[in-house]
Amino acid sequence: MTVYMTSGLDTSVQYLKGVGPYLSKVLSKIGILTVRDMLFYFPRDWEDRRNLPPIADIRIGEDTIIKGRIIKVTGQRTKRGFNLVKAVISDQTGSICCTWFNQKFVKNVLEKNKGQMILVSGKAEHNAFSSGTEFAVKEYELVDASGLENVAIVPKYPLTGGLYQKRIRKITKLMVDGYVDKVSDPLPDSIKRGQDLATLKDAIRHIHFPSDMKDVEFSRKRLAFDDLFMLQLMLAMRRKETRMEGRGIQMNVGSSALSRFESSLPFTFTGAQKKVLEEIRGDMFSSKPMNRLIQGDVGSGKTIVAVAAAVIASGSGYQTAIMAPTQILAKQHYEKISGLVKGLGITVHLITGADKKKKRQDTKDRISKDDASIIVGTHALISQGIDFSKLGLVVIDEQHRFGIGTRAQLTGKGKDPHVLVMTATPIPRTLSLTLYGDLDRSIIDELPPGRTPVVTKYVDSPKRRQMYEFIRQKVSEGKQAYVVCPLIEESEKSDLAAAKETAEELAKVFAPLNVSLLHGKMKPAEKDSIMDGFKNNKINILVSTTVIEVGIDVPNAVIMLIEHVERFGLSQLHQLRGRIGRGAAQSYCFLAGKPSTPESRERVRTMVETTDGFKIAEADLRLRGPGEFFGNRQSGIPEFKMADLIRDEQILRVARKCAFEVVLDDPDLIKEENNGLRAEIDRRISDFAQKDMLN
Ligand code: ADP
Ligand code: MG
Repeated sequence: MTVYMTSGLDTSVQYLKGVGPYLSKVLSKIGILTVRDMLFYFPRDWEDRRNLPPIADIRIGEDTIIKGRIIKVTGQRTKRGFNLVKAVISDQTGSICCTWFNQKFVKNVLEKNKGQMILVSGKAEHNAFSSGTEFAVKEYELVDASGLENVAIVPKYPLTGGLYQKRIRKITKLMVDGYVDKVSDPLPDSIKRGQDLATLKDAIRHIHFPSDMKDVEFSRKRLAFDDLFMLQLMLAMRRKETRMEGRGIQMNVGSSALSRFESSLPFTFTGAQKKVLEEIRGDMFSSKPMNRLIQGDVGSGKTIVAVAAAVIASGSGYQTAIMAPTQILAKQHYEKISGLVKGLGITVHLITGADKKKKRQDTKDRISKDDASIIVGTHALISQGIDFSKLGLVVIDEQHRFGIGTRAQLTGKGKDPHVLVMTATPIPRTLSLTLYGDLDRSIIDELPPGRTPVVTKYVDSPKRRQMYEFIRQKVSEGKQAYVVCPLIEESEKSDLAAAKETAEELAKVFAPLNVSLLHGKMKPAEKDSIMDGFKNNKINILVSTTVIEVGIDVPNAVIMLIEHVERFGLSQLHQLRGRIGRGAAQSYCFLAGKPSTPESRERVRTMVETTDGFKIAEADLRLRGPGEFFGNRQSGIPEFKMADLIRDEQILRVARKCAFEVVLDDPDLIKEENNGLRAEIDRRISDFAQKDMLN
């Protein structure tokens, strides 16, 4: 039993001296509720005020900070109606005229404090009118004789409305002085010594109030280590639990079933597919449950590998559940898989939200009896109260499209089934260790033979007619094209209207070709009939919102035009482009729109330059940062206090290694040196549950 003492760190900030109801409300906006939150609210930057230049030494054009006395304050309106506040500031070496642009209220503040010391940061500029030097102020702070502004290096925090650096700095100082000694350090000494890490108390103290920049680096390393280490520790423990010897279903099937399956395919497995299949077979034939992530670029042939795993399960008398994120994809899998296993006598069922009531009941009844079948479906596999008779394998396709809990929910429908998770979004190693750190990883790093890389071009409006001609030419040769319109939120009406308009316009441009529209708001039957029409080449050009993004497989489509390219993220563009280039014929991807920000231009450039999914993922992570990489909290990327998945790759590797060693040595964390870790994990779990309830 853990005896849990309230340490004082859980005290709500609103009861503390100097905070009060107003400020505590402001702080709660940035997630600061308790003293602990405050201590762990780290600065984003630091300002070194140790060797400020004397005013006489200030050079034009350099960002700098000056400290001096406020001598004279004036305000004026420029001819164009802007507001200009000017103040002369001086020290022993000289004086300079500082200007505040359009901040009328500053005048009062300065006047009230005339004769006082002030710190201003900004840049000296040459004023063409007065032909003198002026200092354009970005930020300023009044200096109290004993104030924190005089500290050598001051922290700068991420702010929110109603919160100022001076204020938060002052509160943080109070908290650090009053409470840092109550912080208990969860890390065993052996790890701290081995990895040369600061103590947690020192790290917190120095990250807020360093005495030099080396302090900052040393503290940062410790704090980032903790973020990553604690996460990896939890992953290691979860993995240990799920990989328990003797708990897995030991599959047992003669090699003939698999080789019959293989020889029934119209192609042979690539080397990469074979290797991954070997790894899967090793897992499924052992007595530990498989927990494996298959990563492979779009079109690398993951589906067939999953089907082979399902054949192993069926041959051993077990069911396989295959879950896909959209109805269209589920249906496509269902049809494809049915064809693939027909000769083997395996039954395949389909369950989606679109099923009619009676049909669904019928399918459910069969699933509850049909031992060795394959069940393909959407989220309905979880939500429709299905009873599996003998679930032995769970496959989740396009995992990144699902929430974090999905895997556990589906797995819970059986007793320790084997689990195969697939993702076509290539993600950088650091992210996959974070999101899927409890899974073994297999990589399909080879595309099936005979694919020619897609040619990608940016098309500006003068070239549009030429592009249309090109598309018409290809279509007249029997090929097909996608036109993708942005509709990021399925509920955005104006986007939907725009997509409809595009479809109508293109129908005119390409008459008499068949141009059809597909979007997420359509009835399932409508979607089906359009997808069927496209698959059978009845529809020449498919105008679509991003519903086609995942998994759709129509090899005869060799052209994709993406409209409003600036509205898509890189990974999404890559996924979209993955719909073409699936056959032997040369494919073309055209990017149209107005990429006007540097980021959007960079995205277009990356797409034009490379088709390598991992390179694209790295660029995407760099451009967007990990938080937005997948878009939402659901994605399961934990919020780190300090760690940065781009910068801290090295720390991540070390932290992971240390965490896995701890769990190997002491699986339940019962050794004395690991007491702190156990308590920290318990605290985090209960903290997480509490915050979740508040949300
Ligand atoms: P993804 O990895 O994106 O899910 P799919 O499983 O949809 O890829 O496969 C893409 C296409 O490649 C499909 O048409 C599939 O039939 C084909 N394919 C898969 N493996 C091979 C192979 N070894 N040789 C040739 N074609 C293959
Ligand atoms: Mg796929």
